[in-house]
Amino acid sequence: MERLTSPPRLMIVSDLDHTMVDHHDPENLSLLRFNSLWENAYRHDSLLVFSTGRSPTLYKELRKEKPLLTPDITIMSVGTEITYGNSMVPDHGWVETLNNKWDLGIVREEAGKFSEELKLQSETEQRPHKISFYVDKSKAQEVTKELSQRLEKRGLDVKIIYSGGMDLDILPQGAGKGQALAYLLKKLKTEGKLPVNTLACGDSGNDAELFSIPDVYGVMVSNAQEELLKWHAENAKDNPKVIHAKERCAGGIIQAIGHFKLGPNLSPRDVSDFLECKTENANPGHEIVKFFLFYERWRRGEVENCEAYTASLKASCHPGGVFVHPSGTEKSLRDTIDELSKYHGDKQGKKFRVWADQVLATDTTPGTWIVKLDKWEQSGDERRCCTTTVKFTSKEGEGLVWEHVQQTWSEQSEVKDNSSWII
Ligand SMILES: [Mg+2]
Repeated sequence: MERLTSPPRLMIVSDLDHTMVDHHDPENLSLLRFNSLWENAYRHDSLLVFSTGRSPTLYKELRKEKPLLTPDITIMSVGTEITYGNSMVPDHGWVETLNNKWDLGIVREEAGKFSEELKLQSETEQRPHKISFYVDKSKAQEVTKELSQRLEKRGLDVKIIYSGGMDLDILPQGAGKGQALAYLLKKLKTEGKLPVNTLACGDSGNDAELFSIPDVYGVMVSNAQEELLKWHAENAKDNPKVIHAKERCAGGIIQAIGHFKLGPNLSPRDVSDFLECKTENANPGHEIVKFFLFYERWRRGEVENCEAYTASLKASCHPGGVFVHPSGTEKSLRDTIDELSKYHGDKQGKKFRVWADQVLATDTTPGTWIVKLDKWEQSGDERRCCTTTVKFTSKEGEGLVWEHVQQTWSEQSEVKDNSSWII
């Protein structure tokens, strides 16, 4: 968060499963649409927060399976763990808060008395401030009631959340996705970085709390669970700040950005012809997102193999521009673009996708930008990532010129194979 010197323009706080991630969409199209919108228009001055019921272990698994962006803040285990940045530094202040009237041993002991109804979830899902079970829909209400009475008698103050039609989580009363968001907003305010707008996004019972935080916009994605819609009907029906989107998952988030007028909501993935797509001001983030989208479509054979495209790309490269390939070889940028023509359509039908993550530009001298990003490529089940640095220059009234591109294999990359990696 240190990179932001002023209040973020937008903070998106989104659940992952069935909200940011559509498990019924093997192509991950709505997620990829969101990604390019975020990197294009929001990354530089906004905050992305993932708020998930998953533990750190299952969260990391999901990141390997799906093309998720790197969030600025991660709230895991149903609002019981808050971490910051790439290295996921934990918030110790939050841990302190959660220790109030909480005793893991007592919760385990009392819950153990419901061994008929409650089935313990895997060990990775049992966290210092969260115990998770599976429960049958028909038993959920009764167990919740009885268990909370028992724990209260033992001097604890807990919260029991039933979610997704089967998960039952026991947390400290001060925990939960809503409380974690409230804590975060308070902390940001203290630092003088209270977001101008905050949008909460969810699909199930444990997300309801997110929509109860004052001054926060909310979107229930079209595929929201019955339990969340029921909560909405009973508690927030007249709140114009919360909508039930018409689109599924990340598509619903994009829809809400438009509905509440929180900023641009046209994903570059929804633009078919990039030559038509010009921005008024030099925007290096936009240039990057646009280029790698073109590159994906080129190799998928989804854009015509016509010289107008390559000519336009070459025109935006400096004649002496250099590209340093992750293998270490250096080539001219213009030759690299020429080489691209050999690869038109080579990834057709191969589940080939490209996305940019953490696109951040700095302009140290006027008219020059250094952009850093992670460029991801997926082909079938294989994923590769290169840390990429691009130097752009711009002359008044003209577009951005690519001066220098350098790539190195990222530590996150599962495969570090130089073959068919063009740029
Ligand atoms: Mg969910």
